[in-house]
Amino acid sequence: MRYLVTGGAGFIGSSLVRHLLGVDSVGRPLAGPAAPAEPVEVVTLDKLTYAGHVENLTEVSGDPRHRFVEGDVCDGGLVRELVRGVDVVFHLAAESHVDRSIIDDRPFVRTNVLGTATLLAAVTEVGIERFVQVSTDEVYGELPWVDPDSEAGRDAPRFTEETPLSPRSPYAATKAAADHLVAAYHVTHGLDVVITRGSNTYGARQHPEKPLPVLIRRALADAPLPLYGDGLNVRDWIHVDDHCRGILAAARKGRPGRVYNLGARAERTNLSLARSVLAILGKPESLIDFVEDRPGHDRRYAVDASRARTELDWVPRSKLLEQLAACGSWYRANQAWIEAVSKPRS
Ligand code: NAD
Repeated sequence: MRYLVTGGAGFIGSSLVRHLLGVDSVGRPLAGPAAPAEPVEVVTLDKLTYAGHVENLTEVSGDPRHRFVEGDVCDGGLVRELVRGVDVVFHLAAESHVDRSIIDDRPFVRTNVLGTATLLAAVTEVGIERFVQVSTDEVYGELPWVDPDSEAGRDAPRFTEETPLSPRSPYAATKAAADHLVAAYHVTHGLDVVITRGSNTYGARQHPEKPLPVLIRRALADAPLPLYGDGLNVRDWIHVDDHCRGILAAARKGRPGRVYNLGARAERTNLSLARSVLAILGKPESLIDFVEDRPGHDRRYAVDASRARTELDWVPRSKLLEQLAACGSWYRANQAWIEAVSKPRS
């Protein structure tokens, strides 16, 4: 099987490349149905924006089954050349940081919308077996707030694949636009597509600007942990290995044109997450620092992933607290990586 992974030098993409080559996000061999059954060739296409780093692919850079191409998903000629002979395209390349999309949404429109359109046109022209659009639960908008630890929280409504798209940040709006394009190519051009909508993802190699790495790094440095507003916004956390297994299951078993939510039912307020990080790292709660809320901050996300469980036989395996501890250890042990990926590009 030949695969193209766009955005494969980013956080989730670099983990997906590893999964396709038979190891998880931290290099442990995969077992069971997740392990690749046939010989594979993987091409990674990445523009190496501030968020993409070849350092994220160090362990696979010498693997003869893998090839890295630096380039832009908006470059139609390059993309057409790369998809020739490919069976499955996993499309992850994106501008992905909500805070940045509030400051300037133009790179988001360009890469997330125009880039997706460019790729869709290329795969339709050349012909591939399947196009996998890696999307986000943020396209659904927000849910009414409920305490995730209360009785009401356990039974409160979650996003299903039938929830109308109602994005509220420029980032989410561009991802929703891309999802609509993907669905339209399925209907109009008969392209075989599946869309996954994963929840907030965490794990090794997430860019240091993202919320969980910020909490871990600041706690390790005994610095204040900034929390937007009252800290009670609820997010549904999924480990990057579970997310990647879900994307692969959707690629292998998903029905053409279908959307699959991927969430691990680990809903936490940001405050409770910060408290867990501090407890795991043995730091005091006095480090928590409430800061001015960001505009349009979605109050609650929670994902119903029962379709993926039934149709894809996908079951998330990771336990949030165990994996938070593993994450803490990973960031503590990988200071050199943090420095390398934080350096401004010349
Ligand atoms: P990331 O920012 O870590 O990685 C994005 C990658 O895309 C980077 O390597 C970047 O260099 C590359 N890229 C950006 N513009 C490009 C362009 N024009 N051409 C080629 N490459 C380009 O993001 P991530 O967290 O790994 O997210 C990957 C995908 O998963 C995104 O599509 C995102 O919307 C989706 N997603 C992320 C999460 C999450 O919590 N991180 C949750 C659900 C879905």
